[in-house]
Amino acid sequence: MSLETILVPCFTDNYAVLVHDTASNKTLCVDAPEARPILSALSERDWKLDTLLITHHHHDHIGGNDQLKSITGTRIVGPEAEKRQIPNMDETVSEGDEIEFAGHPIHVFATPGHTLGHVSYHWPDDHLVFTGDTLFALGCGRLFEGTPAQMWASLSKLKALPDKTQVFCGHEYTLSNAEFAISQEPENIDLQMRLMDIRDKRSKNQPTLPSTIELEKRTNPFLRPDSAEIRKKLNLPSADDEAVFAELRRLKDQA
Ligand code: ZN
Ligand code: FE
Repeated sequence: MSLETILVPCFTDNYAVLVHDTASNKTLCVDAPEARPILSALSERDWKLDTLLITHHHHDHIGGNDQLKSITGTRIVGPEAEKRQIPNMDETVSEGDEIEFAGHPIHVFATPGHTLGHVSYHWPDDHLVFTGDTLFALGCGRLFEGTPAQMWASLSKLKALPDKTQVFCGHEYTLSNAEFAISQEPENIDLQMRLMDIRDKRSKNQPTLPSTIELEKRTNPFLRPDSAEIRKKLNLPSADDEAVFAELRRLKDQA
């Protein structure tokens, strides 16, 4: 069962991701910031869109829904909790649901915080997770609707996925996230090395995605509230992880 993944840059820093199953010749897309680049990426490869998965209701993730629906007839699946805000959905999903694409199981995780109904899509057999604006490479989404406690619970679910799981998120924010990360944990050698790799990739205009759960656990400060270095820097030696996370998020909002 082989899958091909294609990052489709949209607007200035969004990604849609195409997932193509070679055996069945079926194609799925995760999030649709705008239709035009997605339609171009499909037609360049002679692929037909079968399914569109939506992570959350923000316009930069659903702006292409109407056009993709009318042009390709794709099935659209997204969070039940945001069905009033997301146009043209055929199916809705919630925590614990299992859906399927071309024989590949997809597990739905509720990951509230950035928005209240945000979901992430884990493909256990294929070692992929699509985290939208919840977990970013070296960062996490802003808390527009939820609380730090909700976001920390969401990130903790994602953190528990197998190490080799590839992480696709909704934005190319990695370089600015890396600058914040290194300011909070300058002695982290894995992070120092990752920062060099990210600078190199961005100087060549290459994407920094996908990441992996293992790499995020080693380098993403928002998954590392247990880090002694971070706790020392924040002067929170004995706070619980959620409180350290909340302080990191507050500092990042001010950065
Ligand atoms: Zn968003
Ligand atoms: Fe977004």
